[in-house]
Amino acid sequence: MNLPKYSMGIGDRFAHQGTAQLNAFIKAKAKGVDVAPVWNKSNREHQIIHTFPPDVRKEADSAAKILAWKSPYFVDADHINLKNVEAFIHASDFFTLDVADFTGKSADEESIKAFVSKYSSYAGKLSIPGMGETFDIHNETIMKIARKYLLAVKEAGKIYRQIESVKGKDHFVTEVSMDETDSPQTPVELFFILGAMADEKIPAQTIAPKFTGRFNKGVDYVGDVAKFEKEFNQDIAVIAYAVKAFGLPANLKLSVHSGSDKFSIYKCINKAIKKHNTGLHIKTAGTTWLEEVIGLAEGGGEGLEIAKQIYVNALGRFDELCGPYATVIDIKKDKLPAPEEVMKWNSAKFAATLRHDQKCKDYNPNFRQLIHVGYKVAVELGPRYYNALIVYSAVIGKNVEENIYERHIRPVFIG
Ligand SMILES: [Zn+2]
Repeated sequence: MNLPKYSMGIGDRFAHQGTAQLNAFIKAKAKGVDVAPVWNKSNREHQIIHTFPPDVRKEADSAAKILAWKSPYFVDADHINLKNVEAFIHASDFFTLDVADFTGKSADEESIKAFVSKYSSYAGKLSIPGMGETFDIHNETIMKIARKYLLAVKEAGKIYRQIESVKGKDHFVTEVSMDETDSPQTPVELFFILGAMADEKIPAQTIAPKFTGRFNKGVDYVGDVAKFEKEFNQDIAVIAYAVKAFGLPANLKLSVHSGSDKFSIYKCINKAIKKHNTGLHIKTAGTTWLEEVIGLAEGGGEGLEIAKQIYVNALGRFDELCGPYATVIDIKKDKLPAPEEVMKWNSAKFAATLRHDQKCKDYNPNFRQLIHVGYKVAVELGPRYYNALIVYSAVIGKNVEENIYERHIRPVFIG
């Protein structure tokens, strides 16, 4: 099963926006750019929303059927590990193997030694076409990298084989992710990680390293864009070289777990994939749920009431909701509007405060991040929230589609 050159991971927490999301990909296709949609939902989201992996499959299949989408699309078991993969196996055909927890833990000495001796041929001056510089590699460099990453790759091998034993070879797409770690992986580290992946015979089509900079949820990139650009281009060069050197799948490409809305690096990502004529998978637009809240606010009446309720409730439970996301959000509490103030807002003011338009003076990234992690509040509104998604589906759908196409697909893939 082949993942097309361009693909994009989209999240839909409450599973009502499948067709609105797919409409954005149809729009791209009409412009001559094929991007495969990949619906993803992590185990944590399933648990909070009380959904199950087959629900995502149902949503994707139904959207594709309704809109007569004949091109490839996928359902991603997002950030799974050996403990929770089971529930995802039948419903998914794309698996993001998350082995970040195993990075920094050393494999056994024998495996480390074998790895170093196998890859010692790369010691000396490592020069990879397109890297723009050469790297001094010593056996100690390789050993250090092995100690940091070999165990994680071996774990990915175990998860891969578990899935393969049920689904059979070539019946799914494999991604290896190491993005949820403390420190970024350098292009040189990525090179040897890919070697280890080939040794484990993992036919990965995408790899998600942790890139330099902060990827907070639902807001823009925080970091040195020029540094990111250099690293991103070097990673592309490393992958192209490693595919040939280690015999990895020819369509292996980078996966950017963006945490959504990294607008300031979209331009250099677009430039790089065009320049190197390479593929890309980008996970973004987990913010579809925020477009639901924006649509509700714009709908006015009960919709606006619900949007306000979500904010007020989330604010009251700040610590509980932000806790699990502490490392990927950055909310300045004193910049959050008071509940009394928000209760007086009209539709336009609420929508403009939440919508990710950095040119708009009302836009408040603190407000946005709090609502982003506050989806549990909407879950608890139960039927009131779900009914509103139906009543206000037209205005919500318009926001969802426009967000995915205009703010993500267009800048990343079309340019
Ligand atoms: Zn990730």
